[in-house]
Amino acid sequence: MTTTYTVFQEQLPELFRQWSRECALYVPARAAEGFYDFRPWHEHLEVAWEYDVAYNSPKRYLLPPRETLIRYDLAAYTAEPVFEAPAQILFGVHPYDLKALNQLDQIMEGGSPDQNYMRRREATLIMALDPLTVSPTAFWGSIGADKVNHGYDLYWTKIGPASFLVQVGSARGEELLRRAGEPMKATAADREAARRAKLRALSLTRANALKYNWEETPRILGRSWDSPIWRKYAVMCLACGSCNLVCPTCYCFDIREEADDRLEKGERFRAWDGCMLESFARVAGNHNFRPKALDRYRHRYFRKGKYIYDKLGELGCVGCGRCVRACTAGIANPLAVFNELWEESGNEY
Ligand code: SF4
Ligand code: SF4
Repeated sequence: MTTTYTVFQEQLPELFRQWSRECALYVPARAAEGFYDFRPWHEHLEVAWEYDVAYNSPKRYLLPPRETLIRYDLAAYTAEPVFEAPAQILFGVHPYDLKALNQLDQIMEGGSPDQNYMRRREATLIMALDPLTVSPTAFWGSIGADKVNHGYDLYWTKIGPASFLVQVGSARGEELLRRAGEPMKATAADREAARRAKLRALSLTRANALKYNWEETPRILGRSWDSPIWRKYAVMCLACGSCNLVCPTCYCFDIREEADDRLEKGERFRAWDGCMLESFARVAGNHNFRPKALDRYRHRYFRKGKYIYDKLGELGCVGCGRCVRACTAGIANPLAVFNELWEESGNEY
């Protein structure tokens, strides 16, 4: 059976203090009115236990928006690979975001493993936290992203006004928990309280639900290539790429180089890219294989609902709802589009 402990809120400041001495510690905090984000922990920062969703997904700590890969010096004929992998703890990651990180692990480890990503991942400890509130645009409960059973070092569930059930996911996590003394073994009643807390969180997501079993999404998409729904929404798309940038499961990047003004020293870096940007599919000879908004718009949904499923057996969308909030045109909602496609298919699934 998994090891579980009961930890009290009063123990947390000392734990955070100890951890932050050893590595960077990021926790959810209030960023602006109604918005939350991960922030470096410090003594006076209030942890937002009840945050609904972090504005930016935690993927940026493993795949930064810009990351140097090589530094070169032409005069000295040198080119050195750069691996930056600071030790870090991501505390308070909600299950849907953890699911997205687990997906990112599979993508980055597959084929020829991405060394920069792998080193950052190895240097990162993840502490999951069950949500207490749910963003009005989230739908993770109806697409199987409410449960995740691996990828974390510790998993925290609030079971009382000042107590947590902590599930151990790794020896490294358990060792960190001991920094403030020997933790108390959880009782059967505490485990039952955690089970109820998870069900309570899940019930809060019922307001936004898929109208069919999420596993049918690839089949629904498979029959929707020529649907008029794509054009109906694509004409409103501003090709801003915001839906890609906020998405925890988007991982595309572009590789570029920057040299100094004498063209002697420089660096090769990667930077996030997005399939909704017009330039994304432009290749040599100025050929663009997805030149129209309709192509790009449809592609994003196929990516989320079919291509990733065909590869990994799960949707490439975890239902965080960030894209819904980020899209100024109000057309980036996978839940709404998948439901509409299902209705168009005659509710066959
Ligand atoms: S597609 Fe939207 S709802 Fe789905 S994981 Fe990405 S940002 Fe979240
Ligand atoms: S769907 Fe919305 S967020 Fe995405 S590129 Fe188009 S306008 Fe921007």
